[in-house]
Amino acid sequence: MKYTIDKKGFYGNFGGAFIPEMLHSNVTELQENYLGIMQEKSFQKEFRYLLKHYTGRPSPLYYAHRLSDKYHTNIYLKREDLNHTGAHKINNTIGQILMAKKLGKTRIIAETGAGQHGVATATVCALMGLECIVYMGEVDIERQKPNVFRMKMLGAEVRPATSGSKTLKDATNEAIRDWINNPLDTFYIIGSVVGPHPYPDMVARFQSVISEEMKQQMQELEGKPNPDRIIACVGGGSNAAGAYYHYLDDEDVELVSVEAGGEGIHSGRSAATSILGTEGIIHGSRTLLMQTEDGQIIEPHSISAGLDYPGIGPMHAHLIKSGRAQVLSIEDGEALEAALELSQLEGIIPALESSHALAALNYLELKENEISIICLSGRGDKDLQTYMKFMGNE
Ligand SMILES: *Cc1c(COP(=O)(O)O)cnc(C)c1O
Repeated sequence: MKYTIDKKGFYGNFGGAFIPEMLHSNVTELQENYLGIMQEKSFQKEFRYLLKHYTGRPSPLYYAHRLSDKYHTNIYLKREDLNHTGAHKINNTIGQILMAKKLGKTRIIAETGAGQHGVATATVCALMGLECIVYMGEVDIERQKPNVFRMKMLGAEVRPATSGSKTLKDATNEAIRDWINNPLDTFYIIGSVVGPHPYPDMVARFQSVISEEMKQQMQELEGKPNPDRIIACVGGGSNAAGAYYHYLDDEDVELVSVEAGGEGIHSGRSAATSILGTEGIIHGSRTLLMQTEDGQIIEPHSISAGLDYPGIGPMHAHLIKSGRAQVLSIEDGEALEAALELSQLEGIIPALESSHALAALNYLELKENEISIICLSGRGDKDLQTYMKFMGNE
């Protein structure tokens, strides 16, 4: 397993747990227990039950006929958009809330950018009857009102992060601060394959249900488990990690990671973390991030809030640096075009994040007999405002 973590939680040079002393006991508790708990029969039983009957899994693997015709190849969509709450994020929050319960924690905190992870966390807290506090940048609270309301309706408290740029990285800092102050009863549910070890590995394992299903579905539909390529968008990288997981050692499967190019890689307004990033430490792990020469984090930009993060999970830093995964960057306008294309060719309105993965079709050499799977990480309901503006109906 060249592409999973070593005993210290590193993917090659990336990962680890770079945390303040005050978090040491909390993080160590999790490091020592997460694998054992995940393997317990009672854990697996409840996790699998909820994935099936609450979330609606398995999510379909859908052959996109008209899209395939247009690109003269074979394209399947892994339909994470059909999950309860509209994206892949629920797979992870169900896993982590069960982990919190096993560890006897009673108070849940989370960070959120666009509010998708916040909603997924508030959802499972309601399901389990646990207190839920979601940190969110003040700027994001203002621009993501429907999700703020959803969290409140689900019974969560939304606390504004008022420092820095008042967006996702500041909300993450606030959540970490809260965790330091409440080490005994609080569990921090992180929303992607980022953060100190064991979070990147734990989240990847919860999301790996995506590729577990893909292998079975490919076998049924095509008589073989492996496609030629898997394409996924990467913010922190959890939907991509889930879609790649069971294919990491199958080197015949090409992995294509798609980042947000924003207004252009060299425009100063992008989130192309692996292309522009250098090695450093962000939110507890060593990875690639956008920073100035003296280590100040550069504000990212993407039209899609889910990709608007200055770092990338350490697993992806390693996959890209080792050459296992190829990386492409897609600009805001290209993602919008791709969203419209999928809507009108297949009757599926995708999330803006997922639209970045769709737009990658224009940059790949796709052969007629090849099979590509695109991870359709979420549905587009949350992005209608942006789509309306794009189509000139506002
Ligand atoms: C949050 C989100 C993403 C980005 O997160 P990853 O951890 O990179 O998967 C992508 N798509 C959707 C729909 C999201 O909500």
